[in-house]
Amino acid sequence: MITTTIAGSLPKPVWLAEPEMIWAPWRLQDDELLEGQQDAALAWIKTQEDAGIDIVSDGEQFRKHFVHGFLEEVEGIDWQQMTTMGIRDNRYDADVPTVTAAVRRKKSVHGSGAKFCRERTNNQFKFTLPGPMTICDTIADAHYGSRPEMAMAFAELLNEEARELEALGVDVIQFDEPAFNAFMDQVPLWGVDALHKAIEGLTCKTAVHICYGYGIQQNIDWKETLGDEWRQYETFFPSLNESRIDQVSLECADSKVPLSVLGLLKDKEILVGAIDVASEVVETPEKVASTLRAALEFVDPERLIACTNCGMAPLPRYVAEGKLKALGAGAEILRKELRG
Ligand code: ZN
Repeated sequence: MITTTIAGSLPKPVWLAEPEMIWAPWRLQDDELLEGQQDAALAWIKTQEDAGIDIVSDGEQFRKHFVHGFLEEVEGIDWQQMTTMGIRDNRYDADVPTVTAAVRRKKSVHGSGAKFCRERTNNQFKFTLPGPMTICDTIADAHYGSRPEMAMAFAELLNEEARELEALGVDVIQFDEPAFNAFMDQVPLWGVDALHKAIEGLTCKTAVHICYGYGIQQNIDWKETLGDEWRQYETFFPSLNESRIDQVSLECADSKVPLSVLGLLKDKEILVGAIDVASEVVETPEKVASTLRAALEFVDPERLIACTNCGMAPLPRYVAEGKLKALGAGAEILRKELRG
């Protein structure tokens, strides 16, 4: 009852990449880089275990960018042909590579990282991959001519990768789909179909993470335009509830998402974000417990998994550590209450 996990990323240690910067370049190369990534993942697994996080992750220590880290091992993408593109419905510009031919996975992308971690923790282990819609919103298309068609092509590659991760003993595979709330009306039309393709044949738990993004300035500005209540999720939660995805992750800490939208996900396990990743203030365990307690009005305790709002990559390392401890301790407060 009330298990704990994290949405995904954690800060890179200072010796691995420049801190407090998203997509920071590596400070090591080749074999040293791999060893550095492994050490960083191991340190974070230990920190998560000590903090009482049940379903731990590698903190995305093996990749720089949550989408491009996967695309680097995909054929059919031209990295010389960089295009400046307005992404997340033109919320911000990013320089992205271009799809110039049919896409194909060259080799396993995250298998070795996942295997390394799996062998070093007895906790449940979760791995995150970019979702097909979000990939399509983070790359330029000069080949497919249709986003749904390109999404299905990427979903096939994600499925190959996910099957490998499952075979390595990964317990939960999560697809990150921040693009879902930029293109709400597209989710029921093809977003869920693409996710279904990505999870085809999997027997491990599957999750989708949707969110309003990291605490970067463009997102903070955008959130100010959304009004007092963020009801965007109402558009597509019914189609997610009907989907075959097991878990949905969303932010509930200091968020304007009305908790009543959780009522639209009656058949899902819900990763309730109880840690604000846009603030460097470390929550008290009591505050975490109160966010989770409020969610209990709409989610049964068996379906509630305490989580962070989003990734913590841009935060200082000690802040992220503090937030992990607060998450574990806050969930424990609530468990005790429920046990009576
Ligand atoms: Zn997120």
